[in-house]
Amino acid sequence: MTASDVIRMVDLHAQRRRLGPRLRTAIEAVLEHGQFIMGPEVSDLEDKLSGRAEVKHALTMSSGTDALYIALLALDIGPGDAVFVPSFTFVATAEVVSMAGAVPFFVDVREDTFNMDRHSLAESITAARRMGLPPRVVVPVDLFGQPADYDALNELMEVEGLAVLADAAQSFGGSWCGRPVGSLGTITATSFFPSKPLGCYGDGGAAFTDDPALAARMSALRLHGGDRDKKTFDLVGTNARLDTLQAAILLCKLSLFDDELHAREKIACHYSDALEAEAGVPMVLENATSAWAQYTILVPTGHRDRIRSDLRKAGIPTAVYYATPIHLQQPYRDAPRSPGGLPVTQQLADTTLSLPFHPYLDSSTQDRVVDALLTSLKGVSN
Ligand SMILES: *Cc1c(COP(=O)(O)O)cnc(C)c1O
Repeated sequence: MTASDVIRMVDLHAQRRRLGPRLRTAIEAVLEHGQFIMGPEVSDLEDKLSGRAEVKHALTMSSGTDALYIALLALDIGPGDAVFVPSFTFVATAEVVSMAGAVPFFVDVREDTFNMDRHSLAESITAARRMGLPPRVVVPVDLFGQPADYDALNELMEVEGLAVLADAAQSFGGSWCGRPVGSLGTITATSFFPSKPLGCYGDGGAAFTDDPALAARMSALRLHGGDRDKKTFDLVGTNARLDTLQAAILLCKLSLFDDELHAREKIACHYSDALEAEAGVPMVLENATSAWAQYTILVPTGHRDRIRSDLRKAGIPTAVYYATPIHLQQPYRDAPRSPGGLPVTQQLADTTLSLPFHPYLDSSTQDRVVDALLTSLKGVSN
């Protein structure tokens, strides 16, 4: 086996080869002008991002986690406030709520899309009120790249008077009812972690909003609560800026992004066509397009470890998102949760399996993954 035969979950080298000298030129331009903090590439990137997301304001941040955290601070969340989050997500979704001093309230997800379930959310809001925890914000997560059901969620939130903070860390590039991710909540947060659909070479993120007052607050909060001149500090803030170097890298990568989203869609379709008879393949709602951060299937209960080990022996890596839901992690065990419990979350935690997936996965590698998986799944039914 040569090095190029090694299958990776995400292969960033292929993209780097494609970007070629453009990347070096962009990085060297920053080294030359020397404005490493809030340099011209940052504003250029923010203009391009807000255009893409069809919102008035895009604010880059030091990470997706910081974008979520700054958004919660901008929404003025405080002690005792209930913030509704799924448990079947990356821990950052809930940790920012606790860091902001509020209470993460865990809501169950849908079996088909793995995204927040509106019925579980409605029950949770009622339960929170009864517990004396004022409901303030809901944080739908666009899991694995597919936007949550924003029609249902926004409608409910309007009735209840809650803000929607979309955790779009995995879904930038996706859409809902023809509207791009970034424009679907009161505030949207995304991540540019290297393995996300649009990733930089380090940590990075962004927050999007159409609300000028929220944009102004977030802009100040990421700069220690002050203005750009660092003279007046009206809010208690922090340092949550994106490095100019990372902005320059993202500008390069943005030029390939549409092409890569297209490739992701094609590969996902190929996987699904080949696997749908034997495994639970991802379900994308009619109104949605996914950014395909992950390609995640459902395997029969109790067989995941063996399937993973079969695939490992065939040289195929897999990953499990998320084997331990957040409500079972030590700091969150006492946090309130949906009165109906989290049965779907529990079930998904035992049965999801993510396959190698990135825009540069060639068709022979896709076939290798499919063949090994189908062989292993045959073992399940025997
Ligand atoms: C990656 C991720 C985050 C955090 O993003 P970072 O840039 O790594 O801080 C938050 N939420 C979800 C759902 C994620 O997948």
